[in-house]
Amino acid sequence: MAHKFSFYNTLDRRVEEFTPREEGKVSMYTCGPTVYHYAHIGNIRTYIMQDVLIKALAYAGYDVKRVMNITDVGHLSSDADTGEDKMLAGAKREHKTVMEIAKYYTDAFFADFDAVGNKRPDVIEPATNCIPEFINMVETLLKKGYAYVAGGNVYFDTSKLKDYYVFSSEVEKEALQVGVRDDVQEDANKKNKTDFVLWFTKSKFEDQALKWDSPWGVGYPGWHIECSCISMKHLGEYIDIHCGGVDNIFPHHTNEIAQSESYLGHEWCKYWFHSNHLNDKSGKMSKSKGAILTVSLLKEKGYDPLVYRFFCLQSHYRKPLEFSYEALDQAVAAYNKLVKRASELKEDGAVDEKVKKEFEEKFADAVCGDLNTSMATTVLYDALKADTNDATKLALVESFDKVLSLDLIGHAKALSQDADVDPELEKFILDAIERRAQAKKNKDFATADAIRAELLEKGVEIKDTREGVKWQLI
Ligand code: AMP
Ligand code: ZN
Repeated sequence: MAHKFSFYNTLDRRVEEFTPREEGKVSMYTCGPTVYHYAHIGNIRTYIMQDVLIKALAYAGYDVKRVMNITDVGHLSSDADTGEDKMLAGAKREHKTVMEIAKYYTDAFFADFDAVGNKRPDVIEPATNCIPEFINMVETLLKKGYAYVAGGNVYFDTSKLKDYYVFSSEVEKEALQVGVRDDVQEDANKKNKTDFVLWFTKSKFEDQALKWDSPWGVGYPGWHIECSCISMKHLGEYIDIHCGGVDNIFPHHTNEIAQSESYLGHEWCKYWFHSNHLNDKSGKMSKSKGAILTVSLLKEKGYDPLVYRFFCLQSHYRKPLEFSYEALDQAVAAYNKLVKRASELKEDGAVDEKVKKEFEEKFADAVCGDLNTSMATTVLYDALKADTNDATKLALVESFDKVLSLDLIGHAKALSQDADVDPELEKFILDAIERRAQAKKNKDFATADAIRAELLEKGVEIKDTREGVKWQLI
């Protein structure tokens, strides 16, 4: 029996107890990145919180299958089918082809995704792999009378639905209707303001690079259709949980539900999990705003990506989180203290199974209770302070790390190794670092590289960080 699990279901606008369709199993879909630029640390916050969700579900005893798309075609700079194609804009900006852009930024995305301790989804599917599936769904929607062709494009007809704004309260619905009216640049083909494109042919983007043949002419898919199709391709007609950031609620997820349920003729997904944004002092982080703060950039500045994860875990996923270097530095200090504490633990005998179970229960209550990650870290602190032996504490740190993924034990081992290092070797290393710094100052990079290689030969790796050169035995 799985541990009781609850989280905020945006569809019902309240925290609900989670019950999957199939006992013990969870099928989950995640909206993946649009790969026209780097993923900023805000995007990565969203993926960290989803990672906590899947790991907390596994901790609770569920077997989770998760699918994620890569948006490498069709996402326009405005969600309302207006604006420029994001991928094309990226390609123009960098004088590359759309596929080169997609490959480069997909790789960059996963480098950062992995660095913060995330587990990769079981299936990762680029939209460009699924064109026949998109065409099939659009054809069915047309046959069922939920879509129409106008001006060469295929549109979803939102007036065919009883309730289009499924995520909103009555008051919000009114505000949205006004918003949509004010917001949308006129597309004369649409019958209703909220209608959206399923397949583009007569697009204003004549130079769209990726095009496919379809029953409606050569063209390309709308953005929303890809998530519905990719989800059904790998998870079937029902999913338990669909995830995204709060900006995905409208219009993206609203449109995904509209087309999926019209296509299927039944409810598609019962639980919708949305995490809130990371902001900086000037407001919401955005890829299109210019300078992009990425996890890789934080790493270059000397921050361990897992410290960024720790920073995210200290606040609740439903609240906006403000990023600042001061706050991150505080997370560094707290993380280092935890590593130091873990490094002092010795294998001192048998694990006290009773105590271990008690703490694991408290930890599970925290992470399975609407993902209370700050409470979960408090349980970790309490366990480290508890009146029990070190072996039990080590076992608990290891157990909690199945969800937290902070690699405290790995970092603690590296720390103790540094402490145990032979004083002569340490002196040699420090001298070598000094010699290298001097060589770099003299712009003698050949010598600097030779010193790095000499250290590597002795099993010492060095890294240039914001706080100076760091070394570790490998
Ligand atoms: P995109 O690549 O723009 O489609 O975004 C990838 C994911 O990041 C989506 O699930 C968005 O909801 C989410 N996201 C976008 N901006 C932010 C932000 N400032 N903070 C947290 N998540 C975000
Ligand atoms: Zn999506």
